[in-house]
Amino acid sequence: MSKGDGAYGRSESCSLCKKPAVARLSDPKRSLCADHFIRDCEERVRNAIVTEGMITDSDRIAVGLSGGKDSTALLMILSGILASCRGDVSSETGSSEIDAISPNADLIAITIDEGISGYREETMEAAAALVRQLGIPQQIISFDELFGSDLDTLLKGREDEACTVCGVLRRRALLEGARRAGATKIATGHNLDDEAQSVLMNLLRGDLPRLVMDTASGYPDCFIPRIKPLLPLSEKEIVIYLMVQGAFTDLPECPYAHTALRGEAREMLSSLEMQYPGTRQRLITARDDVREIIGADEPGMRGEGAVTRCRRCGEVCSGDICAVCRVLRRKRLDE
Ligand code: SF4
Repeated sequence: MSKGDGAYGRSESCSLCKKPAVARLSDPKRSLCADHFIRDCEERVRNAIVTEGMITDSDRIAVGLSGGKDSTALLMILSGILASCRGDVSSETGSSEIDAISPNADLIAITIDEGISGYREETMEAAAALVRQLGIPQQIISFDELFGSDLDTLLKGREDEACTVCGVLRRRALLEGARRAGATKIATGHNLDDEAQSVLMNLLRGDLPRLVMDTASGYPDCFIPRIKPLLPLSEKEIVIYLMVQGAFTDLPECPYAHTALRGEAREMLSSLEMQYPGTRQRLITARDDVREIIGADEPGMRGEGAVTRCRRCGEVCSGDICAVCRVLRRKRLDE
């Protein structure tokens, strides 16, 4: 099994105590009970935050909260880490690491209502219940409010483009939410699987600028840096984490999900990961190596071309018209 991967339901004992194990992980090999598994996941996230310097200087972090499993785990873990930094709860981690995360950082959840009938209602309710439980402020932004139309309406006649259109508009909506909240960072729930899938999709599309673009700089979304604290965790580990915390809810899948190239990338990578453990992590590492080789001398290759303003909406973009206006204009021309 690959680094950090998990398996639920093994009849083994925890490597650290004798309680029944809920997951078996490798590198290093260990089987963990529920308590030790939770601690292990949280420590890996905390270490990534410290190592990458994701949270500093009283950051106000806008957490993209869809109500799905990844964003739920992200908000739970971040809120626990910040509570331990403030001394609200005890921490198992060394104090020097805790000191590296600002005790004054705070969170606000940003929930985007795309307007996907029969799907978003339930996840919106799950998001609202979670922020109530954690005592975190929430801001809800709808496509209707921002773009004058919900996603279902925008997609009429071009449903096969759903995820491309949705992705472009969601990024803008999240950015708008972060700005309204006065956020200094945007945190998203991307996990190890998501990141490896993105690398593979960019390779399949032959999109080198997007492959090496580093959104941690804040480019191209107007310089609010993005952080991905869940990158050390696989999708399976996140499911186990939520299950053992009693926070797993079986929510419906987006009706447009089957239109995404991501679904094919996911299947391809799952099968490769089974045959060649560590494939996902190696893909990400190879991408990071390419980023480093390209270095700071080639901004064009990193997608950091000259920053201009969109002719239609005035947003920062790298061309004449931003991606959001292209998507919306196409819809109006189709009418
Ligand atoms: Fe949007 Fe596609 Fe995700 Fe559905 S699956 S929420 S359409 S990106």
